[in-house]
Formats: sequence, structure tokens, C-alpha cells
Amino acid sequence: MNDAFDNAHFLFRRHQFVGHTEATCLACQAVYAVTAITRWIDGGTTPVCPRCQYDFVAPGRLAPEVLAAARARLFEPWEGMEPLKPGDWA
Ligand SMILES: [Zn+2]
Repeated sequence: MNDAFDNAHFLFRRHQFVGHTEATCLACQAVYAVTAITRWIDGGTTPVCPRCQYDFVAPGRLAPEVLAAARARLFEPWEGMEPLKPGDWA
């Protein structure tokens, strides 16, 4: 598991995209160029997916198993908690 995913809310910050040419959306699983991200929220620090508009964009092209593990933590219940939904942060 990548250290980046220790972030409880999976919100990635702009500085984490420095040095990356691609980004992966944890919500819709799209991969696109970082330059395709045109909207940054939270004062310009958090990227918003240009495809699905959720702020679950991770830097780099994630390996399928990493993406699957991240999505499992994001969208499925763990430790008795209710599953997290993108709308929780809307
Ligand atoms: Zn997306």
C-alpha cells in the first residue's frame, strides 16, 4: 500500500502532483494527463476530476491492484464504519 493512501479521506494535494504527468481518479477510475485537471478546490489545492467532478484524484497512473485497494477502502465498509461516498464531501 502506497503511503499516499494513508490519508484517511483520500484527498490529494496539488504539491503531490508535481513531477507527475498523469493522474488517476479513484471514483470513476479514469486516467488522464494532470494538465487535463482544470478545477482545483479548497483554495486551489485539491484537484477535481474533469470527468466525474469528484475530488478523489490521485497523482500518477495507479497499478490496477493499487486502484482496487484504494477503492475498497473508499467505497466499502471497514472496521464497522459506514461506506464512504463521494457525496460525503460534496
Ligand atoms: Zn473521476
